[in-house]
Amino acid sequence: MLEVRNLRSGYGATEVLHAVSLTVKAGQSVCIIGANGAGKTTLLRTLAGLIRPTAGRILLAGEEIVALSTSARLARGLALVPEGRRVFAPMTVEENLEMGAFRRLWPRRDRGVAQDLAMVFELFPRLQERRRQAAGLLSGGEQQMLAIGRALMGRPRLLLLDEPSMGLAPRVVQEIFATIRRLNAEGMSILLAEQNANMALRSAAHGYVLAEGEIVRADAGAVLMRDAGVRAAYLGL
Ligand code: ATP
Repeated sequence: MLEVRNLRSGYGATEVLHAVSLTVKAGQSVCIIGANGAGKTTLLRTLAGLIRPTAGRILLAGEEIVALSTSARLARGLALVPEGRRVFAPMTVEENLEMGAFRRLWPRRDRGVAQDLAMVFELFPRLQERRRQAAGLLSGGEQQMLAIGRALMGRPRLLLLDEPSMGLAPRVVQEIFATIRRLNAEGMSILLAEQNANMALRSAAHGYVLAEGEIVRADAGAVLMRDAGVRAAYLGL
C-alpha cells in the first residue's frame, strides 16, 4: 500500500529525516515509535504532502506521489489525522465531518456523503449525539474521534494517525485504540506514530523505531514489545 524509500525531509536547511525507508502492506497496521522530537510528525506530514521532501520516493499502491498535493494524495486514498486533532473549533461536529468530504460537496453534494456520515456515527455514537455542537466544546477524546471521523469521510485506504493518544485519559486511549483496531480489522491500512509505545506496539502488526530521524529497529510489534533495548528506552521498563 505504501512504500517509502530513502526519504529525506526537514525544515529549510535543517534535515530531520535522514533516508527513512518503510513499508505498509495492504490491510496492515504499522506503528512508528520514538521519543519526543524523533521526527514522527515530520514523517507523517511529509507523507501527507504538507512538507516537501528533499529526496526519496513515496509510492502509494505502486504510484509515485511525491510530487502530488495533499488533496491529490487524499483523492488517491491517503488521509492524515494530525497531531493535536486540529478540529475546526467554531464549526459543528457535522460540518467538521463534511469538511473531510469536501471534494464531494461541490458543485453538488454527493449522496455518498450522507452514507459516510452514518458510517462515522455508527463508529462513534458520541459524535452523533453532539452533531450540532461546536467542535471546540467537545472533550479531548471526542475531538480525537472527530479528527478520525473527518479523515474517514475522505474514504481513505491508508490512514495516517499522528499521536492519537496525546493528552487523553487511559480509558479514552483504550477506546480510541479499539476503534483503530476495528478499522484495521475491516481492511483499512494504518500507519500510526506514537510516543505511547506500549499501546502502539500492542495494536500494530509491525513496528519501526525512529530515533533522531533514522529508523533504528524494525520488527513485528510483539517482538519489539519483548526487546530489552526497546523496553528500556520506550516502555520505561
Ligand atoms: P513530537 O512527539 O514532539 O511531535 P516528533 O517525533 O513528532 O516529536 P517532530 O515534531 O517531527 O518530532 O520534530 C523533529 C525535529 O524537527 C525536532 O528537532 C523539532 O525541533 C524539529 N522541528 C519540528 N517542527 C519544526 C519547524 N516547523 N521548523 C523547524 N524545526 C522543526
